[in-house]
Amino acid sequence: MKALLLSDIHANIDALQAVLAAAPAYDVVWNLGDIVGYNAAPAAVLEQCQSLGKVFVRGNHDRACAGQVDLETFNAVAAAAVRWTQKQLTAEMLEWLARLPSGPRSPANDTLAPATVHCMHGSPCDEDEYMLSEEDALTQLPCARAPINFFGHTHVQGGFAFDSAGDCAEILPGMTGEPAVEQWELPLRPGLRYFLNPGSVGQPRDGDWRAAFAIYDDAAALLTFWRVPYDVRMAQIRIQRAGLPDRLAMRLRAGR
Ligand code: ZN
Repeated sequence: MKALLLSDIHANIDALQAVLAAAPAYDVVWNLGDIVGYNAAPAAVLEQCQSLGKVFVRGNHDRACAGQVDLETFNAVAAAAVRWTQKQLTAEMLEWLARLPSGPRSPANDTLAPATVHCMHGSPCDEDEYMLSEEDALTQLPCARAPINFFGHTHVQGGFAFDSAGDCAEILPGMTGEPAVEQWELPLRPGLRYFLNPGSVGQPRDGDWRAAFAIYDDAAALLTFWRVPYDVRMAQIRIQRAGLPDRLAMRLRAGR
């Protein structure tokens, strides 16, 4: 079984289409949340995600657009994007966002039962928690109930591996940053516990502007990280035409 891991698409249809065009054959899509927010094509991205598969966990922007988050907790730019997004989506779309399940979840049976793999947006303890450092990951480790934990939220491709003693190694995909399609393979070793982030499709923040995703092959015990160039200029034009904050357009090229 091969799973296409998508996270933090954030209404960027240009990035999502480039990812789907570049992705190798897969059996299922696991979506780690933040389908909408920030970028300017929420309806098109939401419909595309609905057609791609049934395994989802919700992100904080999905909840915010569904009216489930106090926007006072969002920064001004993010809140402006949420309010704009709410006007672009139908009542049915907003209802669908509101019903997305929280993580962590087993993609096999959509429960929190112990499993090989769990999917989550933030961390195993808290769907809104950011795991940016080894220290962050270590504090979340006691909540992990699967050896392999796929997460998003940070918009940083990579992750963390823990041995049986609890020692942590950061996983940094060895990408060159060239404006081309790139892959980097991570063999998953038995006995280790992993927090793995496929990166953000629609708003990367790891210094690489290319859309990020990953392919998990359970039979081969292999995770392949991918980066794919896309039409950033078009995504920026959509943001400007929508009247969304300029900052949201600028950051796409910087990958920050
Ligand atoms: Zn996000």
